[in-house]
Amino acid sequence: MNSKTKRFWSRNKRFRLMLTLELAVMLPAAALIYLNFHHVKSIKRAKKVEASIHRDFQYMLADAEKNINDKIYAMIEEVRNILPNLDSDADEKARKLDLILSTHPWLAHMFLFDAEKGLLFRSQPQRMSEKYFQHEHEWLNEMYSGWFGLEAKMLCDVMHKKPRPINCYTDPIKREGNDVVMTTAFFVLPQVPKDKVVLGGISFEPDYLKQTFFPENLEEMVAQKLTDESGYQLALSVFPSEREGEYAGNALATSAGWGDGKPEVSRNLDDVFRGLAMGIRFQGTSADAIASRWVQQSILILGVLSLLMIGGLVLTYRSVSKEIALARLKSDFVSNVSHELRTPLSLIQLYAETLELGRITTQEKKEEYYRIIRKESERLGKLISNILDFSRIEAGRKEYDLRETDIAELVRNTLDTYRYQIEKSGFEFETSIESNIPTMKLDREAIARALLNLVNNAIKYSADEKFLKVKLYRTNGTVKLEVVDRGIGIARRDQAKIFEKFYRTCDPLVHNTKGSGLGLSLVRHITHAHGGEVEVESSPGRGSKFTLSLPLTEEADREANVIASGASA
Ligand code: ADP
Repeated sequence: MNSKTKRFWSRNKRFRLMLTLELAVMLPAAALIYLNFHHVKSIKRAKKVEASIHRDFQYMLADAEKNINDKIYAMIEEVRNILPNLDSDADEKARKLDLILSTHPWLAHMFLFDAEKGLLFRSQPQRMSEKYFQHEHEWLNEMYSGWFGLEAKMLCDVMHKKPRPINCYTDPIKREGNDVVMTTAFFVLPQVPKDKVVLGGISFEPDYLKQTFFPENLEEMVAQKLTDESGYQLALSVFPSEREGEYAGNALATSAGWGDGKPEVSRNLDDVFRGLAMGIRFQGTSADAIASRWVQQSILILGVLSLLMIGGLVLTYRSVSKEIALARLKSDFVSNVSHELRTPLSLIQLYAETLELGRITTQEKKEEYYRIIRKESERLGKLISNILDFSRIEAGRKEYDLRETDIAELVRNTLDTYRYQIEKSGFEFETSIESNIPTMKLDREAIARALLNLVNNAIKYSADEKFLKVKLYRTNGTVKLEVVDRGIGIARRDQAKIFEKFYRTCDPLVHNTKGSGLGLSLVRHITHAHGGEVEVESSPGRGSKFTLSLPLTEEADREANVIASGASA
């Protein structure tokens, strides 16, 4: 790789990093989000969840119907097998039927039809005193006599051909104006030869079906068989199906927890209960609600995951950008510092050599050269102290030696050492130092360094108007140290950044002035170590004011207040 391409690659380091980030992280993440949303949407569209629930429900209903049919057939068979012998006389048979009726209270009516002897129709004896029941008895007796007289033979022939010689009908009837359903079974008798036209039959008591048979069986099936895999509680109901499985809201019987909703799935009953339908649903919810809750949850989870991923990406992006910016600042720092080190060194070297050669004759000139050498070594010393301090801070090894100090004296002494130098650089220099400030715990050297860094900056970054003011005063439990200049000022967007290590603004004057970008970051570290804050107020072209606020202990502040009030009195 030649040097040109090398430079190209290093210049495009940032671009390469971003490209990698985008290809390796952003693209797969975006694809993942897109695919997942697509997946959830397609599930929603197909309503797969709902359809599978409905399919399960159909199986459950078919099972449930078989269950109740088996029970009803068992009850019919039980009575069919104990019917009286055909040879006994009519009174005997009637007595026998009445006995069966009274020992089987779930029966409303029973009958025997013999083509030769006619119809023997008996009804539940305990209820014959009730008028509507008597009326029902008479009406059915009449109806069956007529009907069997005409069609009994045909009915017998049909039943003999069936594997189970029983025919069931479920019909709506009226009882005292109320709609009820009555299930009736006809059968041929087991011990009667096939050529004889003899029929038996029973009608189930409608109240028994409504109040006992259906509720008990529905409840039992819900409890034993029908628990949905997803753990939702199920409920069943039986209702008259006027139209294809339509639920009109008036169930004949329901299991507990049905509520007042519609069935999720219903099935028209065949065979015994033709004319009725059975419905199934979840207790207190619906398949639609479950499906959409599922979709909502999936979307929520995906949303949260996507947000996390986006958050992660933003953080990565920011930290990478920060690292890149820091790397750039570091390389600027190295060139700034080496430049700063070289200048005073070459000046010292130059003046020392000139003096050594003995060419300087006048005492005045010699003194000037000595002063320059001293000043430049001081500058070098300050820079090296800053760098050493900074490296200690970075390594976490910087320790502060806090001792009771009279800050007013410290500030005064520090400024006095530099006063001549400041004024000689053409600065109008004002100080305002309050005298009754209580002593406080400070690291003398560190605070002096912070102050000098601020003063130095004020000098470095002043152009036309050379003014510097240092003010020390006590207010609201803090001691404030202000350094004010009327220099180039700092743009608002830079004001927070100047306290970061290596940061220098892009003002041309700053660019042409030597500096390492470490001074203010040290000032901030020192102030924080003393539990204080540093702030800047500045407007470009008008100057800046840096303020260090150092907290006083409550006690010291109280004492100072007492002294101050005594002095004013
Ligand atoms: P340095 O002075 O070595 O560059 P500092 O950390 O002391 O580093 O200052 C950081 C930057 O803040 C300077 O480069 C300069 O842009 C700006 N700055 C600091 N003090 C002043 C000031 N008094 N007036 C204008 N700009 C300032």
